[in-house]
Amino acid sequence: MRYLTVTAHPDDEILGFGGSTYVLTAKGHVVNNLILSGDVEARQHRPDVETLKSQTHRAQEIVGAQAPILGPFPNIKFNMVPHLELVQFIEKYIEELEPDVVITHHPYDLNNDHYFTSKACQAAVRLFQRKPVKPLKSFYFMEIPSSTDWAFPVDGQNFRPDTFIEIGEAGLEKKIEALYAYEGVMRPYPHPRSEEAIRALAVLRGSQTGRHYCEGLQTAMHIIEY
Ligand SMILES: [Zn+2]
Repeated sequence: MRYLTVTAHPDDEILGFGGSTYVLTAKGHVVNNLILSGDVEARQHRPDVETLKSQTHRAQEIVGAQAPILGPFPNIKFNMVPHLELVQFIEKYIEELEPDVVITHHPYDLNNDHYFTSKACQAAVRLFQRKPVKPLKSFYFMEIPSSTDWAFPVDGQNFRPDTFIEIGEAGLEKKIEALYAYEGVMRPYPHPRSEEAIRALAVLRGSQTGRHYCEGLQTAMHIIEY
């Protein structure tokens, strides 16, 4: 199976799907990560562009993903980018990479870039219904600690996982190793991006479905094949 994650920033792909990426690629599946703001100016508490790029590449290697695809969109300013530009950029890679499964941000996420990424991706994944490209099998939303969980429950639309991938101890350790490959991502406990909280979330998601350490996703669309 071919998996494509579409995220806003370098580190989101690991925070949301890093353990899953490790276990899936270990079984021979292909995971590509499209990071829309991957090739832009340094972020707060972050290294310069070249260092961040090499850390992004290193993180993908740790979890077994393909080389990352780094987009040119401005950090924390996705609201300034025309919606169509984001959509067409994502569509280009859906056409090229032919994913069976696409995973993106949850639309009710505190981070504005995550929100706009989700909206653009929701439009882009309909490509197969507009053009003769390979049909998508599944489309999911992921959770990003310190962002999806920080959205206020104003209209009851918060992230609710209904799909779980068992990442096991190995997947959890690789996820944490990949997060440490990024400078400035991990924070002291009780921040949601502390090692303790990342481990606790994997325990919680696992316990929700009787497994040892999971990442949770929320289904947006899933075609049952027979
Ligand atoms: Zn992000």
